[in-house]
Amino acid sequence: MPVAETTTSFDLFNPTDEHRMLRETLRDFVEAEVEPQAAEHDRNETFNLGLFRKLGELGLHGITVSEEDGGSGMDAVAAVIAHEELSVADPGFTLAYLAHAMLFVNNFYHNSNEEQRARYLDKVVSGEWIAGMCMTEPAVGTDVIGMASTAVRDGDDYVINGRKMFITNGAIDDETPGDLFLVYAKTADRKISSFVVEKSHPGFSLGQKLHDKTGMRASMTAELAFDDCRIPATNRLGEEGESIIHMMRNLEIERLTLAAMSLGIAMRSLRVMVDYGKERKAFGRPIIEFGQIERHIGESFAKWRAARTYVYDVARRLDLAKPGNRVDSDGVKLFASTMGKEVADAAMQVLGGYGYMGEYVVERLWRDAKLLEIGGGTIEAHQKNITRDLSRDPGRYLR
Ligand SMILES: Cc1cc2nc3c(=O)[nH]c(=O)nc-3n(C[C@H](O)[C@H](O)[C@H](O)COP(=O)(O)OP(=O)(O)OC[C@H]3O[C@@H](n4cnc5c(N)ncnc54)[C@H](O)[C@@H]3O)c2cc1C
Repeated sequence: MPVAETTTSFDLFNPTDEHRMLRETLRDFVEAEVEPQAAEHDRNETFNLGLFRKLGELGLHGITVSEEDGGSGMDAVAAVIAHEELSVADPGFTLAYLAHAMLFVNNFYHNSNEEQRARYLDKVVSGEWIAGMCMTEPAVGTDVIGMASTAVRDGDDYVINGRKMFITNGAIDDETPGDLFLVYAKTADRKISSFVVEKSHPGFSLGQKLHDKTGMRASMTAELAFDDCRIPATNRLGEEGESIIHMMRNLEIERLTLAAMSLGIAMRSLRVMVDYGKERKAFGRPIIEFGQIERHIGESFAKWRAARTYVYDVARRLDLAKPGNRVDSDGVKLFASTMGKEVADAAMQVLGGYGYMGEYVVERLWRDAKLLEIGGGTIEAHQKNITRDLSRDPGRYLR
């Protein structure tokens, strides 16, 4: 096939028919089921468990799990499509989905053995059990290697002690913890290992449920406590001390899908500001005709398109089974998170006083967008990582 034909027919955002169908299915689902409930769950700070389980019926919880293992057998591009489309209506709900499907399911799937998969995979792929990932602690976030939680081997068990902070899906309501967690803790030689902890394991408890978040209020955030929490040694993932590799590999898909959430926020904000700009009149003209409004719209559009192209280009190269994409997974989140926040801000400005009101969706998107500059790594952490990676690997510019 001549080169011109392949390059012009290639659709970066929907590279295969399967991707396109996934996007179409999601758009219908989001319009019918996600959009109508979003404002209420944001206002009440509640998690929509019923809707979450419907994502299981669509195959979304196991989107990156192979078909032989009961998943949808899709790739990082599909994961990006799911997070982008869900975030058009409800970034808060999407964050709960991300914590389950990317931070737990994808991480667990790549690092577990057959026996562990047989015990847990069905329950989380269906959405019957709600899962999350515990890395951050009250005194340690960015400096994750400095975590204080420990896991000490005791015969056929490990005993975990520590506290984990800001855990998405840590709770599903004020009293009920999530069901299953991937927990990082230090073992012998102060190396990081990871464990699967069930809510029924002795010594596990729900600490404070964190209320009054700025945004992402449809996802529940909690502190979790591990007080002499005893789990079977068969719940350790991989070998002792090797989970820093698991963590780094999974942070790549985490950052990529968080960046995809910013794309959904920006796309929705753009649509809202263009529609409003055409309707709203001032000084006898639609405000969309004013140069300063055109600047908000034009710059937002260009930034969104640039971020979207970068996100999908990284997604198509990302191998879920291997690390090695840190510079770009940090890069997309660094660029897209700030882009999403700025585009939501531009939309609020274009809507004037109405944009500041809860009734209009951009106010919610504006609050949700900020988290993406913090969660999954702060923008300062991305700047640090990118600089380190570039100084270690000057050949990076040529690839
Ligand atoms: C809503 C929400 C949901 C979350 N969900 C989860 C979850 O499910 N699981 C989980 O494990 N964690 C979760 N987190 C935690 C999140 O990943 C951390 O908040 C984030 O990594 C930052 O850590 P920190 O808050 O401790 O900030 P810190 O690390 O204390 O940083 C404070 C400030 O110092 C800056 N800073 C720190 N180190 C450096 C440096 N070397 N150079 C320059 N600046 C630096 C930071 O960029 C930031 O501006 C969540 C957080 C929130 C708010």
